[in-house]
Amino acid sequence: MKASKMLISTLKEAPNEAKIDSHILLLRAGMIKNEVAGIYNYLPMGLRVLNKIEAIIKDEMDKSGAQEILCSAIQPKELWVESGRWMKYGPELMRLKDRHEREFCLGPTHEEIFTSLVRDLVKSPKQLPITLYQIQTKYRDEFRPRFGLIRSREFIMKDAYSFDRDEEGLEASYKLMYDTYTKIFERFKLNFQPVLADTGNIGGNGSHQFMALADIGESTIIYCDGNHYAADQEKATSKLDGFTGKESKEIEKVSTPNHATIDELVEFLNEDSKNMAKTMVYHDFMNEKFILAMVRADKDINEIKLVNESGSNENYLKLATDEEIAQLGLVKGYIGPVNLPEQSKNIDIYVDQELEGHNGFYVGANEKDYHLANVKFGRDFTGKVCDLRLANEGSLCPVCGKPMKSARGIEVGQVFKLQTKYSEAMKCTYVNEKGENVPMVMGCYGIGVTRTLQSIVEQYHDEAGIKWPLNVAPYHAVIVPISAKDQTQVELAEKIYAELNANGVEVILDDRDAKPGFKFKDWELIGVPYIITVGRRAAEGVVEFKLRSTMEKTEVAAQDAIKTIVDAVKTL
Ligand code: ATP
Ligand code: MG
Repeated sequence: MKASKMLISTLKEAPNEAKIDSHILLLRAGMIKNEVAGIYNYLPMGLRVLNKIEAIIKDEMDKSGAQEILCSAIQPKELWVESGRWMKYGPELMRLKDRHEREFCLGPTHEEIFTSLVRDLVKSPKQLPITLYQIQTKYRDEFRPRFGLIRSREFIMKDAYSFDRDEEGLEASYKLMYDTYTKIFERFKLNFQPVLADTGNIGGNGSHQFMALADIGESTIIYCDGNHYAADQEKATSKLDGFTGKESKEIEKVSTPNHATIDELVEFLNEDSKNMAKTMVYHDFMNEKFILAMVRADKDINEIKLVNESGSNENYLKLATDEEIAQLGLVKGYIGPVNLPEQSKNIDIYVDQELEGHNGFYVGANEKDYHLANVKFGRDFTGKVCDLRLANEGSLCPVCGKPMKSARGIEVGQVFKLQTKYSEAMKCTYVNEKGENVPMVMGCYGIGVTRTLQSIVEQYHDEAGIKWPLNVAPYHAVIVPISAKDQTQVELAEKIYAELNANGVEVILDDRDAKPGFKFKDWELIGVPYIITVGRRAAEGVVEFKLRSTMEKTEVAAQDAIKTIVDAVKTL
């Protein structure tokens, strides 16, 4: 392609709302353009990259035996009512009505549609297992769209759904997808880590997320250096550290005037926060009840674990407001599980495992300016003991017991054993050998295609711009003649251009009427892997050959530059 005919829309400065490098560079390189918050258009360069990313995903999905389909983004409310998600999904679901007042949503994911399709189309167990996938636009009305394509409101996802006869089949389908995802992210040259992930209300140990490692990542990974364990912080567990405090004593009421926070108490009582409990009050709107959640005060509560333990839902479990706390007869800053006032006698209490064996800790006395010391679980109060603590850097590895580390990641994909959650609710069944109608056993598998695109930029860039890996670069090579008036240069540039084109290299000839420095800035920003400059040694057939990845420059015979590029492109 000749640059003079292309829509190249590079910018000197990125718009203000872009805060992270990859977002700034995608905008500055003219790959994407923002419409409204969290909604993007893909320009020629960006679309070329997107198409290549999609082609790699399709190639690996097809090799795994999955079959591609394409579904509508618009989904009828009825299917979501059947699955029980019309209410549960909350405000992220973009809902709309047609002129006849029929309700729909713009799909944030497609479990309902795929389950409905398979229920209608797959009649015989002989047709199982089957895995179907699509690459399609999703809609989620994110509370705070940010970081460009990483958290947008309209994005492209590759979503796949497997249907098996039994659990054993699901295990095999799941493993196949896990391996396929590993191959896909390896082909993108991403530095990534698969981690155990939360399975929400479905339970079980059935999900992994694929995290592209990046400091700006919104996910926290807790991992063991010895490769024993890696999990998303929402899911991560930790080995109990065995701390039990001092010997147990009788409960004692202590005056703690105006010392309501843990930090204030630590200082005032001159006591380790490991000998205190943190008690939080939650309102579970789903089950219409209040919950007390307790962890040792050197830890925080993992709200996802609390959601799972209480059978609530992420969108429906909120910290109680000051008014609600007062209505429960509790005193903010002085809340505890002992001597609960009449109004909160029936409150559910969830207690982290670290408090179970503790000999005695401080809790609020449910009275302003007082705490209780030496409170012991089982003796002074009870509740449901569970893992409620947020694991973090330093928490002990559940396998080897050594302190764990933490890192930031961008969730680029997730695989999930759904089991029969949707097939049961939506009656997606088959007739087994015994003649019984049984639900198919499902898995679902997502890759954030556009989020992956930006994650590659996050890992492959420098001050000058993007450094695309060759297999996803918008073009493989660009030729820049220094002077458009120099006939020798123009001829050599055209010759190289023709030869590269003839050998399947995606190449640009920069014939724009602009200064060479301006052109180089553009190509370095856009991130074309090979940059050939045809200049003063054109008569000898010598060019300057630059690798964008390292910015390394050499003077070589034009034929050698061509050979290097053609050979590299052949390996793709
Ligand atoms: P997150 O926790 O980041 O909101 P999620 O777990 O809700 O994501 P999934 O339902 O697992 O997302 O969707 C599959 C994939 O789609 C994710 O792994 C992610 O790569 C991508 N994705 C999800 N939400 C967005 C979004 N708002 N913008 C871009 N990509 C997204
Ligand atoms: Mg996810």
